[in-house]
Amino acid sequence: MGNINDRIGRADWKKEKHVPVIECADEVKADTMFDVKVSIGKEIAHPNTTAHHISWIQLFFHADGEKFAIQVGEFQFSAHGEAAEGPDTGPVYTHHSITATMKTKKSGKLYALSLCNIHGLWESEKEIKVI
Ligand code: FE
Repeated sequence: MGNINDRIGRADWKKEKHVPVIECADEVKADTMFDVKVSIGKEIAHPNTTAHHISWIQLFFHADGEKFAIQVGEFQFSAHGEAAEGPDTGPVYTHHSITATMKTKKSGKLYALSLCNIHGLWESEKEIKVI
């Protein structure tokens, strides 16, 4: 019963390591590019191993007055120490942190959605005001 919303975790990122942390200006200029950083584990580190890692982050923006949200970007974290020799023997690990550069004509709300391969979906949000 229920729907996918019931499977998306929401919590304080300072207490729950899976919650994406969105960092950007609270106020931006209309139609002017700005950076949005999204990371996992800013306060409490999340593992990054072959068996347990963050798989992806998706970032959406819902402009005030619009019906639908727009996907800003989708970021796959593909390397977690995998290698032919076995788990966690590889040389490469992608860290679960991204920076998107975007602009908007309207104020609205950013939504970050992330997936831990073991602990599922987590989301957070942040208001952006166009001045
Ligand atoms: Fe996890």
